[in-house]
Amino acid sequence: MLIHLKDVAAKGTIRLDGTEDLTGVLPKKGSLLDFGPLRMQLEARDQAGMAEISGQLEIDVEQACSRCLAPVPQKLTIPFHETFVKGEEPDPDALDIEADEDDGDDFLYVQEDRFDLLPYLAESVMLALPFIPLCSSDCQGLCPVCGTNRNEQACGCKQDKVDPRLAGLADFFNKQS
Ligand SMILES: [Zn+2]
Ligand SMILES: [Zn+2]
Repeated sequence: MLIHLKDVAAKGTIRLDGTEDLTGVLPKKGSLLDFGPLRMQLEARDQAGMAEISGQLEIDVEQACSRCLAPVPQKLTIPFHETFVKGEEPDPDALDIEADEDDGDDFLYVQEDRFDLLPYLAESVMLALPFIPLCSSDCQGLCPVCGTNRNEQACGCKQDKVDPRLAGLADFFNKQS
């Protein structure tokens, strides 16, 4: 998905609709098990040579439940709004007055007139992933003693058998149930 700044400047506005495959761009790591194609409804607008790209992204993701590790499918709808500028990022030391004010209107600096938008879209997806995915809000998690998935069956483990190193974790699970 190449964006050409000069092209955006010449046309004023360009629609960027369609689907993109993020395989190899979005890393399957951490809780992220799998994902479908990225659907995008974006518009690139020329702002005096800069490209303001905004709209909405949609993607189906599958994450591992943070308590029981079961796959948790979810559809994410992610707003996207970034302004791309060709050039070098200014030295933050030279901008120490502005650096203190986070007005949320930062620019993304690209080296060439033509750049690939996909890594930026993938980063938006990464940031939108739930930090602690849960298969359900009352997920019982895995037994800290025997590892049984307590959503599927009760294992009958006694808490006094809990390894002292895991006592804190057992405590956590008890408070949840
Ligand atoms: Zn779970
Ligand atoms: Zn158990």
